[in-house]
Amino acid sequence: MKTVRSAGGVVLNRKGEVLLIRDRNGYWVFPKGHIEPGETPEQAAVREVREETGIEARIIAPLGETRYVNDRGVPREVVWFLMEGEGQVAIEPGLTGGGFFLEEEARGLIAFPEDLELLERAYAHRAL
Ligand code: ATP
Repeated sequence: MKTVRSAGGVVLNRKGEVLLIRDRNGYWVFPKGHIEPGETPEQAAVREVREETGIEARIIAPLGETRYVNDRGVPREVVWFLMEGEGQVAIEPGLTGGGFFLEEEARGLIAFPEDLELLERAYAHRAL
């Protein structure tokens, strides 16, 4: 099956909390979504965060890429950015929840090892 290219954001607020949402299977993940034709990965990441949570975030740095095959057998490749954003999370209809979480709490919620690795990279960058 064709690999779907996506982009997403690891969004931190001023308190150092990270933005997580629950996907359609109830897993806690970072917001991400398809890169539309004509869009840069940066634009797609900002748009996806806005559409899924209502948060207007800005890009701080690239965080690399992850790959996985989803539960429908679709291979996905995600380009990630460290982002900064503030505000109350207004979750898109159909998504079950979301919010900003302190690092340790986020660590306990995040479902996938690739995402834990991204979280590490985000906080390492912030500590520089
Ligand atoms: P979209 O509407 O953008 O296609 P989606 O909800 O279908 O979003 P996917 O990432 O395609 O999102 O599928 C999510 C599912 O893929 C998860 O619920 C989980 O079952 C599975 N999955 C397996 N490994 C991962 C991973 N590392 N990161 C995220 N999801 C994963």
